[in-house]
Amino acid sequence: MSEELRNIIAETKKQLEHLRVLGVEGIQVTAEPVIAKPVVASRPEPVKPPIPISAPEPVTSLFGNLAPAPVKLTKSTETFEQIHAEIGDCTRCPLHLERKHVVHTEGNRKARLMFVGEAPGADEDIQARPFVGRAGQLLTKIIEAIGMKREEVLIGNVNRCRPPGNRAPTTEEATTCKPYLLREIAIVQPEVIVVLGNTAMKNLLDTREGITRMRGRFLDYKGIKVMPTFHPAYLLRDPSKKRETWEDLKMVRDYLDSHP
Ligand code: URA
Repeated sequence: MSEELRNIIAETKKQLEHLRVLGVEGIQVTAEPVIAKPVVASRPEPVKPPIPISAPEPVTSLFGNLAPAPVKLTKSTETFEQIHAEIGDCTRCPLHLERKHVVHTEGNRKARLMFVGEAPGADEDIQARPFVGRAGQLLTKIIEAIGMKREEVLIGNVNRCRPPGNRAPTTEEATTCKPYLLREIAIVQPEVIVVLGNTAMKNLLDTREGITRMRGRFLDYKGIKVMPTFHPAYLLRDPSKKRETWEDLKMVRDYLDSHP
């Protein structure tokens, strides 16, 4: 067996193992033998630039406004401790009325990769830590499936207080809380942010399209790659969506691997 074939088999086994960890129980293979088609020389597809989600600022010159320049995130010199102290025993939105704890962003403050969810659930509210319930356990598996450890990444939510009955936070509640997350992002400047689920995506990025249309393609937030994908709680309800989530996370892993 050639070295190349051995490598292909090893890589395929690795991919299948990742899918198994994510709970995929089978994959469809064609019954027909695959006959290699002659390779027709074609022009390569132009690489699509990521969709900017932050409005570019016009460049002003002697001649007025020129083409818009891409906005880059300015590195912040604040600390998480300063931000958390400022949040304090927050009463800025109605979510404070029923929460037990404010749940802050946790993890590696030099992370290359960050995950953002919508708001804490019951387990997170009790433990004062993001993503520690069932959905959080699945998130940990997803992180491990791309060859990373939970401690290596940064994990947070757009809203830091549990909405009663796990309802989605309102736009006003999200708008009140989001600036603190954006300030943390400006401190860490991760290379990639994975946004989990429709509510987090809409609240963080002010997008109108749903997650099904937005997932699977990098967006740009001030120079940071943003990948929207399904929320792990949704994957627990509909495991068939794990396959697409895995595709999205593979793109994230490949991006990080190719930008060491
Ligand atoms: N769902 C979220 O969006 N965030 C958590 O921290 C837990 C569940």
